Amino acid sequence: MTAAGNIAEVRGGRLTFEGIDVAALADRTPTPFFLFSPRQIRWNVETLRNAFSRRHLDTEFFYAGKANSNRWFLRQVQATGINIEVNAGGELHRALAAGFRPDQIVFNGVAKTRHEVRDAINAGIRAIIADSLYELERIADVAAGIGVGKVAAVALRVDVDVPTQTHPGMATTHGGKAGIDLADAGQGFAYAAAQQWLDVRGLHCHIGSQITDAAPYARAVEVALDLIEAAERVTGCRLEFLNAGGGFAVPYRRVVPGMVCDAADYFCSTVQPDDYAAAICDTLRRRRPDLKLFLEPGRAIAANTAILVSRVENQKVKRVRDERGNVIGEERWLAIDAGYNTLLEHCLYDWYYPAVVANRAAEPPAGAFRLAGPLCDGGDRFVGDDGTDWRHFPTTTGVGDVVAFGNTGAYTLEMMQPCNAQPRAAAYAVDRGEVVEIRRRESNDDMVALDVGFGPGSGGA
Ligand code: PLP
Repeated sequence: MTAAGNIAEVRGGRLTFEGIDVAALADRTPTPFFLFSPRQIRWNVETLRNAFSRRHLDTEFFYAGKANSNRWFLRQVQATGINIEVNAGGELHRALAAGFRPDQIVFNGVAKTRHEVRDAINAGIRAIIADSLYELERIADVAAGIGVGKVAAVALRVDVDVPTQTHPGMATTHGGKAGIDLADAGQGFAYAAAQQWLDVRGLHCHIGSQITDAAPYARAVEVALDLIEAAERVTGCRLEFLNAGGGFAVPYRRVVPGMVCDAADYFCSTVQPDDYAAAICDTLRRRRPDLKLFLEPGRAIAANTAILVSRVENQKVKRVRDERGNVIGEERWLAIDAGYNTLLEHCLYDWYYPAVVANRAAEPPAGAFRLAGPLCDGGDRFVGDDGTDWRHFPTTTGVGDVVAFGNTGAYTLEMMQPCNAQPRAAAYAVDRGEVVEIRRRESNDDMVALDVGFGPGSGGA
């Protein structure tokens, strides 16, 4: 996804974001914090809409709320007019609170509770996407229990068994946990079509996240259309939609024109929305132009809308020794105030977020550093540039400098956790030149607010 013009720029040697001097903002605002651009959200939605809708008019986007379900963020997405995909009762609640209509919501999830299913049916959402044959029975049973003519609109999530080269934690087909096995799809459609409490509307085939190649989408759509056609033959139903999911990749490594990415390097992506649109829509148009196309992009809408701003709080040199104790080199370490409590995936998945020193943005990144977070675990250190251990920053980078990570708008706020009782970070947005708070920084009191049973009169210690 491209940037909406000059969102991040170097001016006077310093990084600016939507015109705001990032290091100056960090001097008056506790770090770490996230900084969002609403303009980039709108740009991303428009770019996707243009790519797909001109190839398949009947396309509906369901923003994958799991990428970022902050209330301000959801309101920005809702204002663009697209729909939303949710993955839990909590996300359903947030989506409704943000103003999405029930018929704008689809509900995925590999372990939906009866309670969540009941809430979704009662709300009257567009479709519950069943993850297994068992879950279809559960949805029918819950709908029957509600009675009063409530029929649950459903789609079947099928594992179309298409291999992808993304991070193993992001793969959802071909050995992944999600979806109904390919061989059971026919049985699922036959069951759903025969149930008075179910109204079967479509097939869903999300193949994973950060998919840096468009070809698997074309294969997935072919398999999905085979299944849809077989289901329609057997049941006599006509399905309304094919949901091809999300997964469109974001270039976490810097890409330059003409660059060719190694297909196995999932941080490097030159695939454009148009490429995904062609892979998905060309097949659909050839075989089933009557079907609606549903898409569920999350990362492609949220990732490049934010930076994370952190500060260097410690620096040191550590010698590297061989097994006999001889010094064979040295490493310069920088420790910043954001670790996996703030960017969980940097550790969970060794995820690479590009970074620059905001107050030295014009200096050449000629120094090699190991970069660490503040947490007690040895694992709280950042992967380096280009698959190495090293981050490249200006040679004089040290304590007090401001490190800004790019592409931190997706799967970040959602995953923060107060490890070592570090407060979860605040988030701000730059709206028409003004910095507005969209999530406040956690306080020490917030962090203990849920603990009970510990004090005098509570029966605790
Ligand atoms: N839809 C489903 C069912 C998902 O599991 C996910 C995330 O993996 C998405 C959509 C969004 O994926 P992405 O953020 O890569 O677009």
